[in-house]
Amino acid sequence: MNPDDVPADLPAYVYDLRGLKEHVASVRAALGPTELFYAAKANPDAEILRTVAPHVDGVEVSSGGELTHVRETLPHTPLAFGGPGKTDDELALARHHADRIHIESPRELTRLAALGPADVLLRANLPFRTPGAALSMSGPFGMDEDALDECARRLPGTPLALRGVHAHLASGLDAPAMLDLAAQIVEWALPFLEKHGVDDPEINVGGGMAVDYASPTTRFDWETYGRGLPGNTRLRVEPGRALTAYHGRYVTDVLDVKTTRGETYVVLRGGTHHLRTPVTKGHDHPFEVLTSKQAPTSRATLVGQLCTPKDVFASNVPVPPLSPGDIVAFSMAGAYAWNISHHDFLMHPKPTFHCLR
Ligand SMILES: *Cc1c(COP(=O)(O)O)cnc(C)c1O
Repeated sequence: MNPDDVPADLPAYVYDLRGLKEHVASVRAALGPTELFYAAKANPDAEILRTVAPHVDGVEVSSGGELTHVRETLPHTPLAFGGPGKTDDELALARHHADRIHIESPRELTRLAALGPADVLLRANLPFRTPGAALSMSGPFGMDEDALDECARRLPGTPLALRGVHAHLASGLDAPAMLDLAAQIVEWALPFLEKHGVDDPEINVGGGMAVDYASPTTRFDWETYGRGLPGNTRLRVEPGRALTAYHGRYVTDVLDVKTTRGETYVVLRGGTHHLRTPVTKGHDHPFEVLTSKQAPTSRATLVGQLCTPKDVFASNVPVPPLSPGDIVAFSMAGAYAWNISHHDFLMHPKPTFHCLR
């Protein structure tokens, strides 16, 4: 990060919209005919949405709140609405604003059908092996084969149109593993959809493309992924993290440096109530020190202002000499960062938000 781009009012989130635009455009190009939706839950910031929108085919939303916000921000972008536990109000809202609704249970199908016509995908929870996944989205998400068949049987008497299948089964997989998963989904879904008379079937193979916080320059191999996806059907992907993670920074300054029982702590303005990512992922968050060009000379633990031992950005990591006023920029803070953080804990001031265009 260029030190000239550091805002005066720290802590600050700084979004690199130019870099984001280039990145999403390159992902779009690599995917060829496969449709690209952005999963808004990774970062629903309006500036991020407006930057991503021209390069995606749609946005995936997972709550009535996201649906309303994204529709207001992007009036014309196609939306897909998913998520377990949809209320009647959310289903009614989705019928008006979403192009596709992802059905999570036979009961949900019946509740939606009672409201009137809608285009649906059935969300499948399939027993495929996903070695190496950071998260496996089994459990309550989607339906097993029995529940999917139950939905397919109920559909003909309803005003709903079955368009295809949705399967978001794992996250944190690299391109070869994601291709293997997509092939398994398609191989299962095509006969299922044919059996139920779906013309021009759509298969949404989800998001979850790997982001490696231990290696900020490593990127998911979109070229290999795009080339390897099955070409025999209308496919859709809906990544979140791998689109926006790299284009946000959380920038702050050092308040104190101290050594307690042999361990050095660098206390930063703000904390994990602004950037919860390292706590939820259990990693040392990547950062650079903008006010020092020196190589690391010692190790320290980077903490925030919260009165909890969990307020740790990075533990016992190499640092250059640091003192109050030095500026630290945490990179890879563009996804699952501010919007997943517990902002109000301890009532510290909120960060400021800035965009580089
Ligand atoms: C969270 C989520 C995504 C996006 O996952 P990423 O790991 O951010 O790519 C896509 N689809 C569904 C259904 C999700 O719940």
